[in-house]
Amino acid sequence: MKRATQKVLLLNPPSDRLYIRDQFCSHVSKGTYYWQPLDLLQISARLNAQGYELSIVDAIAERLSAEETQRRISRFAPDALVFMTGSDSFADDVAFIAEVKRRGVGVAVGIGDILREKGEQLMATHPEIDAYLHDFVNNGLHAFLQGRMDDAANMTVRTATGLRKVEERDSPRTFTIPTPPYEIFPLDRYRMPYNRYHPYATIITSSWCPFGCNFCPFARTSYRVREVADVLRNMEDIRRMGFRQMHMADWTFAVDRKQAEAILRGMIKAKFGFTWSCLSRVDLMDRELMGLMVEAGCDLLELGVESGNQEILDRYEKGITLEQIHDTFRWAHELNISTLATFVLGLPGETHEDLQKTLDLALTIEPTFCSFNVASPRMGTELRRQMLADGLIKDDEEGAILDSSRSQPAFSTGQLAAAELQRFRQLAIRKFYLRPSYLLQRLRRISSLVEFQNYASNGLSLIWQSIQSARARRT
Ligand code: SF4
Repeated sequence: MKRATQKVLLLNPPSDRLYIRDQFCSHVSKGTYYWQPLDLLQISARLNAQGYELSIVDAIAERLSAEETQRRISRFAPDALVFMTGSDSFADDVAFIAEVKRRGVGVAVGIGDILREKGEQLMATHPEIDAYLHDFVNNGLHAFLQGRMDDAANMTVRTATGLRKVEERDSPRTFTIPTPPYEIFPLDRYRMPYNRYHPYATIITSSWCPFGCNFCPFARTSYRVREVADVLRNMEDIRRMGFRQMHMADWTFAVDRKQAEAILRGMIKAKFGFTWSCLSRVDLMDRELMGLMVEAGCDLLELGVESGNQEILDRYEKGITLEQIHDTFRWAHELNISTLATFVLGLPGETHEDLQKTLDLALTIEPTFCSFNVASPRMGTELRRQMLADGLIKDDEEGAILDSSRSQPAFSTGQLAAAELQRFRQLAIRKFYLRPSYLLQRLRRISSLVEFQNYASNGLSLIWQSIQSARARRT
């Protein structure tokens, strides 16, 4: 019997900005890098295993114009498309989708932070959206595409009688997911700023995050672990496909210590030989676990440090201590594992002294890389709710967008003017990256041409942004 839907196109809609979007978060790339769209990868994994004919048009990664994107969609002639959207780009995205449907595509399913936050409200005014996904890992997309609305779990769908939100019947603590068809994605166009090899493959070993960091859209989301054998099978496929670089895109690796250790021991036993990176927290790390990670090929560990002031860490419910930060970075130095420390500058209530403490901490713990982000009241966060309640931002379109690259302050906090915060961010970048000892050390550690190219292009982009920002301040 012929199925209701056979051909599905996965779409990252076009824009001249480098939007990085997923279902919880959307922002603009701060450098020249652009990573693989995790949502579309995981959605493609299930649809591929379910026998759909798939195509991907990642218009942003491929820098496609709107017209060229429409041409590619028409050439494939899908029955349905799944598109990404975000709070920053929503108006443009839905206008594009309306045109796609006008040209004959029957069904459009969205995924993105703004839909998660106010999807039903938006579907009421945008008939071009037929459904949206609440969860890209476990979802009933296959059932929806085959017209079985009762089974369209983790989705809100449009039916003849109105909108319908379909919850999951049971929420298992573990999940499995097939290996994504990496080869249909434009792999050559994706770059992580610190990768050694190109192209790379993305994998997940868990979904979402149980921690409660107040400023983070992933806070207290329904954490689940992927079965160890399923993870190792995916890695075996990655090896078979010839990748040398892998990124574990878990929001927080090693929340489940037993699962993490089992994966790492499995990787060591299988001698995969990948170089890989992941994100985690300092309170989940210890020397033994980090030793296993290094043995399994991890060469970059991204850690949310956020602030050099314990009071700020506590107020925003980060749940870590300065002592844990110092310990983890000391172990990283001892084990020779590269680190990327991320910081948030300008949370409401922060003073200039707090910012200075954060910069001092960055210079003391000496991560390999630092990412200084300005606080942004992102969709779905407790921080956003608090700032709305305090009247610091408005819940209108402008308030929804704010600064999406997290490189320009979008509001003043009372203690810090936006311009002062921006000046401090630029100072922090210069103080950290332009130390002669740092530059020398980086040059010595470069071990591949790809690594050199990444540093050169992102370093130049960073310096260019500093110059632009200084110019903007003078005019
Ligand atoms: S640990 Fe990371 S992903 Fe989890 S809530 Fe905190 S900042 Fe977000």
